[in-house]
This record gives sequence, structure tokens and C-alpha cells, in this order.
Amino acid sequence: MAEKRWIAETLFDDLGFRMSYQVDKVLYEMQTEHQHLVLFEHPFFGKMLMLDGATQITKRDEFIYQEMMSHVPLFAHGQAREVLIIGGGDCGIAEEVLKHKSVKRLTQVEIDPAVIEFSKEHFPEFTKPVFADKRFESVIDDGMKYVARTERRFDAIIVDSTDPQGPGKVLFSQKFYAACKRCMNKGAVLVTQNGVPMFQPNELASSVAKFRRLFADGTCYVAAIPTYVGGHMAMGWASDDRRLRQTPVKTLAARYRKAGAFSTRYWTPEVHAAAFALPRFTADVVAEARPRR
Ligand code: SAM
Repeated sequence: MAEKRWIAETLFDDLGFRMSYQVDKVLYEMQTEHQHLVLFEHPFFGKMLMLDGATQITKRDEFIYQEMMSHVPLFAHGQAREVLIIGGGDCGIAEEVLKHKSVKRLTQVEIDPAVIEFSKEHFPEFTKPVFADKRFESVIDDGMKYVARTERRFDAIIVDSTDPQGPGKVLFSQKFYAACKRCMNKGAVLVTQNGVPMFQPNELASSVAKFRRLFADGTCYVAAIPTYVGGHMAMGWASDDRRLRQTPVKTLAARYRKAGAFSTRYWTPEVHAAAFALPRFTADVVAEARPRR
């Protein structure tokens, strides 16, 4: 019997370790204009997508990240109508955002059309309902260019990007966050994919410091995603409305009921509130994140 192939996540090579995944079947592999893309079947995690050697999404645990990146900003805001996703080509977050009937328009700006095309084939559970929804607008563009030019204004911006390498690098820059702020309505919120604090503390500190140059409130919230190896994943949080992240559980529960209490597998009002209670080592990374003048 032929030896099974194993695919390694190389994101933490500089830290001297790799996660390797046994491959039942490679479903799709290509070098796109922007990045190396491989989709394969794993015996436990199911379909797994890797971009440039970093795990993006798995069928088994995607719900945790997708729900926390969408329901936390939207239930904290309470009346977000105009929502922007930067990246997110697999449409997993878009599918969660569109569960909020209060959302009038959702625009997704993805740089790599190959990710969307292949997600239509391999993640129809996300792309089908999303592309069938009249509120959804798909734009192929560099997120940096889009927020620097758009006349639109948003109540929530969700940056579901790759790591700060290749095309994703600019999405962790001061000029990107400043351009995001430019197209945010009063009381709007910005959330960002911000790495794993245990292995990527500088990435988190650097983003929070940049948030604090621009916004009254800059911090993060956390959730543990098994295939984003390293314990908690940090999701960056920036807003000029300091009250948003202190929205009481009672208010979150009432908003959830008003939104039709759609099914979730990770997000609850209590988990939402608790996600901002940071473990001390992560709180220290955030506390020490000072904007350099
Ligand atoms: N959840 C995943 C994670 O945490 O690593 C990210 C998933 S999503 C697939 C990331 C998307 O960001 C990719 O489809 C990639 O093409 C897109 N992306 C990277 N850089 C971008 C840029 N500058 N503008 C817009 N999209 C970008």
C-alpha cells in the first residue's frame, strides 16, 4: 500500500516546529497569481485549505473563527447595516454575517479570484447561500486599494486575511488601518484576524499599537481554534466607541433573540463577553502595545 502523503504547515518554521496533516486525497492544488493554494481531505478535520503553508479553514473547526469574527462585532454594534469583509474568499464569514437580517448590504473584497472560484466548487455550503443573497456584493481587489478609494461608509469592517506575508502583509499596516478608519461610520467597529498570541505576540502588539494611534479603543478578544495551532487566536478590535466591547450579556441576549436566535455552535452571549477577558500573558502584550509617536 502506497505511503500516505503528509502536508506540513510551515507558518512556524522560524519557531522550529511544524504541524503535519495526513492527506487522504488532494482535491485541488495550484500556484495562483498571489499564493500557493492546496485543498485536501484529512481523516479527522475533513476538507482543509492551506495558503502559502498556513492553514486557512477546515470543515471540522471553521465555525469557531467564522462565528467569532462575525457575531461579536455585529451583536456588539447592535444595528450594523453596511458591512465590509476584506479577504474572506471562502465566504465562511459572509455566510454568518448574512444571518443578521439587519444587515442591508455586505461587500467582500478578495484579492484572489482563484480562492472564490475554487470555494464555489469545494465550499458550496458557504458560497451558495452567499452568492444567492441580493445583499451580497463580491469585489476582486486589493483590500488596501479598496479602502483607500471607496466612497462607501461602513458600520463594521471584518478583516479575514491571511498572515502578514505575501498579499496579506499590507493588511497589518498603519496606512491600511487608517484607510479603514476613513471609511467607517460614527460608532463603527473594525475586527481583524490577528494571529496566535503565544507564537505571534509581536503581530498582535504591533496591530494594537497602530489601532491606538487611530481609535479611542484598541485591544483584542480571543477564541481557541484547534487548527490555528498555539492556544488562543487573537481577533483585533478597534472602535471609537469604548462601550461596544462592554455590551452587557443581557443586551447581547436580547439582540440575539431579536435577530431570530439563528443556530450557532460556538458564539453565545456569555462566550462573547468572556472573549474580552484576556489571559494575563495576552493582556500584557496588549497593555504594552504603545503607539510610537
Ligand atoms: N481565516 C483564515 C486565517 O485566519 O488565516 C483566512 C481565510 S481567507 C481564505 C484569507 C483570504 O485573504 C485569502 O483568500 C487571501 O487571498 C485574502 N487576501 C490576502 N491578502 C489580501 C489583500 N491584500 N486584499 C484582499 N484579500 C486578501
